Amino acid sequence: MATESALEHVSRLRRLHRVQLACYNSYEDLYRAYLEAGCEELGLSAGLVSRIRDGEHEVQASLYRHDRPAPVPCLSVTNALYSRVVEFNQTVAVHNVRRDPALREHLTYQTLGVEAYLAAPIPVRGEVFGTLDFSALQPRTEPFADDEIEFVELMAGAIGQSLERDLLDRERKAAIEHMEEQVTLFEGAFTHAAIGMALVGTDGRWLRVNEAVCQIFGYSENELLNIDFQTITHPEDLDADLDQVQQLLEGRQDTYQMKKRYIHRNGSEVWGLLTVSVVRDHAGEPQYFISQINDISAQVTAENALRIRQRQLEAANKRLDELARTDSLTGLANRREFMSRLEEEVQRGQRNGHALCVAVMDLDHFKRYNDNHGHIEGDLALKTVADTLRETCRDMDLVARHGGEEFALLLPETSAEDGLQAAERIRQNVAVIDSLKRRISVSLGVKAFEPVAHRQITPTAVQMSALLEDADQALYEAKSVGRNQVRLARD
Ligand code: GH3
Ligand code: MG
Ligand code: MG
Repeated sequence: MATESALEHVSRLRRLHRVQLACYNSYEDLYRAYLEAGCEELGLSAGLVSRIRDGEHEVQASLYRHDRPAPVPCLSVTNALYSRVVEFNQTVAVHNVRRDPALREHLTYQTLGVEAYLAAPIPVRGEVFGTLDFSALQPRTEPFADDEIEFVELMAGAIGQSLERDLLDRERKAAIEHMEEQVTLFEGAFTHAAIGMALVGTDGRWLRVNEAVCQIFGYSENELLNIDFQTITHPEDLDADLDQVQQLLEGRQDTYQMKKRYIHRNGSEVWGLLTVSVVRDHAGEPQYFISQINDISAQVTAENALRIRQRQLEAANKRLDELARTDSLTGLANRREFMSRLEEEVQRGQRNGHALCVAVMDLDHFKRYNDNHGHIEGDLALKTVADTLRETCRDMDLVARHGGEEFALLLPETSAEDGLQAAERIRQNVAVIDSLKRRISVSLGVKAFEPVAHRQITPTAVQMSALLEDADQALYEAKSVGRNQVRLARD
């Protein structure tokens, strides 16, 4: 059979349950409900909820059912009766203060005359938030029962839970607000970024696009969200891009960058510098791609123009170089080119031990030809003779216009005898040209160069000129003995 005190305890717990379930508009209402329940159930005349902050006691709510003055709203913790509650984080129950020499000294007792006192700490997140105190100005005959103490502790705990819940709510709200701010900030950065930014599904569909992407491709956001990147990729760049995408999907890379062409809505080509990274879920499965697209069309156009200019410049330089080495009337090599090739060939001959020949050719009585048929016909004759020289010589030979109506021939890997024969063949081939105003004869002087065995000395310019002078001398001899013939220079 339940005892009277057990029934009382059950009734108190019911009361506590009701207080806990009720809704309150403010903390003051909530505290008041607990204080009323405590005073009534414990038969005490005063109740107080305090908060301890920075060692100070702040009254949050109080209830007085006697006519003594209310306590000061703010007291130093060490000066108050509940100092033990706070200091040791435990319930203090004193039924007769005046019999306790230590408590008797307390300011609370001195000023308020509290005789019976029951207080429990209000726990919030493991800390003492404050205290729930009940007191009476009359001492109690019996000490507080365990049930009564437990009742106050349960109430203090319930207040603590309410406070904790509220704290949690506020923190959650703040966190949500912070997140919303972050999202707004991110959204703004994404939408208004100068660079094209997009989220792309693993199948290539545009999931989100910013203003810059729409601008770059000339599509509205809605239009883009209904197509995939493949649709607006230049067909020639599609495979390379899909290849990279495949590597992302297979986890072989997390990001890639490429220059690629897109097709603008108006059909024009757009060059983009594309940077893509993949976002995976916890299991590592690709969820979507983050793409950044920089419109580099202007840059590519400038680069292309520069490349064309460079090619033009190279061609012009090449042409200039050719011109510097070519005689403009006949298209043959000029004297400069001849001298440079001569040096090369003499060196090669020296290395290989091959002989070479140099021949100088002059048109006979050409002054007369000019005088009789005019300078233009004279030029034509020079060109025709040049053609015949080219046709008669081997590819490895060099035919040059040496100046005026004089020509020079470089015949590599040619002995004196062969050189003489080649010169004779030339003389004959020129002699039979019948397309000119009259037949033309030529005289040639040939000089052979025989390399000296084991001599690796680089020929000097003087030696080069000596070869030509010797050939010239032979030419002079050919002229002096009647022209239209070939002479070999004697060593
Ligand atoms: P030869 O050599 O047989 O002694 O008599 P030549 O009349 O040819 O005498 P020379 O070699 O000294 O004459 C050079 C002439 O060649 C002078 C000029 O009329 C002609 N000549 C030189 N260069 C050119 C040229 O570029 N064009 C034309 N049309 N004639 C030229
Ligand atoms: Mg001459
Ligand atoms: Mg002449």
